Amino acid sequence: MSLLRDGYSPENFREKGHKLIDLLADYLSSQQQYSSKVFTKFEPEALTRVWEEKLHSGASFSEILDQFTEDSIHLHHPRYMGHQVSPVLPTAALADLVSALLNNGVGVYEMGSPTIAMERIVIQKIANQLGFSESAGGFLTSGGTLGNLTALLTARQQKAGKNAWKNGTAGQQYAVIVSEQAHYCIDRAVKIMGWGDEGVVKIPVDGSFRMDISSLEKAYNSSIAEGKKIIGVVGNACSTATGSFDPLEEIADFCADHNLWFHIDAAHGGAAAFSEKHASLLDGINRADSVVVDFHKMMMAPSLVTGVIFKESQHSYQTFSQQAKYLWDKEDAEWYNLGKRTFECTKDMMALKIFMSFQQYGPKLFEEIVDELFAKGRLLGKLITERSQFELAVKPQANIVCFRHLPRHGKDINEHNRRIREKIIENGEFFLVQTELNDNVYLRTSLMNIFTTKNDLKQLLDHIEETGIDII
Ligand SMILES: *Cc1c(COP(=O)(O)O)cnc(C)c1O
Repeated sequence: MSLLRDGYSPENFREKGHKLIDLLADYLSSQQQYSSKVFTKFEPEALTRVWEEKLHSGASFSEILDQFTEDSIHLHHPRYMGHQVSPVLPTAALADLVSALLNNGVGVYEMGSPTIAMERIVIQKIANQLGFSESAGGFLTSGGTLGNLTALLTARQQKAGKNAWKNGTAGQQYAVIVSEQAHYCIDRAVKIMGWGDEGVVKIPVDGSFRMDISSLEKAYNSSIAEGKKIIGVVGNACSTATGSFDPLEEIADFCADHNLWFHIDAAHGGAAAFSEKHASLLDGINRADSVVVDFHKMMMAPSLVTGVIFKESQHSYQTFSQQAKYLWDKEDAEWYNLGKRTFECTKDMMALKIFMSFQQYGPKLFEEIVDELFAKGRLLGKLITERSQFELAVKPQANIVCFRHLPRHGKDINEHNRRIREKIIENGEFFLVQTELNDNVYLRTSLMNIFTTKNDLKQLLDHIEETGIDII
């Protein structure tokens, strides 16, 4: 058989597929049973050599993927507490496989009609949950970074006072106001729009790392005095570093008073809208002009699936008001020709991965995960305050917890915590990250896994203590 015919053989696919599902099911089960460490540190050059050898080894499909899963970081391990990506819901992973094989392009209606219908439904669901009216709408895109850029391009188009997309923005310094805890992608989006360093006006945060509203007016006025035109304000819901929710109602009031675009980066925390217990953290979100929500963070989808939701759906059609005649016959706003509104041309069949979770389990699934994970965050916060050798950066509002271990007197606390994090990574029993707050180093955990127990959290703190003693 030719290589290609072998490659496309349905029977080969069936055989490999069955083996693969078995391998992954065993993997899931072994992770839930702590059968391996969560993380193995490899030296990048050495690891490249290992895989170079494998490329020519003649190893089977299963052997390679077995090794691959083993060497990877294990998000389904209960002691994975690092970055905010989710241990994917197996149902969503299976849907992803279908998307991978069908590979419908989704940018134009003919390419992936069912996904496009699903995308509208999924966006409507999340828009309703956020408290928007019928006039809201939006689309899915590849990640929060791109979602924030797209929303800010829309903000620019709406508030620049001219057709910025068509004529550019030369001759005027534009800017957005953010808190100093905004995700770095906002800064990057502004730079991509060509506004430079001056395009981001950063205002301080309060003791809980929430935007300090009392600084808004002053920052706005001094920016205007410097000749800047402020387009809008970006609120965090929640912030990446500490999981702090900005006071959205107050920001909404400010934006209304000054005719500014209100964008909310709810990449991580938007899912809280599904929780009766925690939805109030998002009070005011339905007054935003645009909101970004990552489904691959709190909503268990494989990366990347991000919702960009606009209070007025029609705004999203003006972002890239550019025509590609060979793709669309008509110039009017056809919601089902998604490429008119998204950055992507060819796009992954994202909606299927969310739709299947909704369809199989309902929105209650998302309420459960938010409630469980936020409870774990708060529990860890409590356990930390009970130990005198630890200091909590801020009482957690969500499932992100920042804290540090206090060394015995005379030692540099930042260096001490940096070393602890290094040693934890080298050891691999736990995985967590670090961040800097007010120029100090903190250990940072995002509790993403429902299988993380109270015992795991206690043992994490024990482990840190033991590691801390060893550091002279
Ligand atoms: C994760 C995150 C982002 C970036 O989203 P990606 O999907 O990783 O591109 C942006 N903002 C916030 C608040 C985040 O937590």
